[in-house]
Amino acid sequence: MPIYEYICHKCSEAFTALRPVHMRAEDAQCPMCGSEDVRKKLSSFSSLSSGSVGSSGYFSGGGGG
Ligand SMILES: [Zn+2]
Repeated sequence: MPIYEYICHKCSEAFTALRPVHMRAEDAQCPMCGSEDVRKKLSSFSSLSSGSVGSSGYFSGGGGG
């Protein structure tokens, strides 16, 4: 479930709301003043640094004589 950021026009309170995708078009309500005059902020994607290089090796032990 994505988190959307909102800015209240009435009290300029910034808050986030956890809303399902099918409800993203609906307006949220400010938790501070209860106003529905809020504006959805655009969330910018940050560059994710992922990927780790590692060498995986295993030794097969065998009993020898
Ligand atoms: Zn507000």
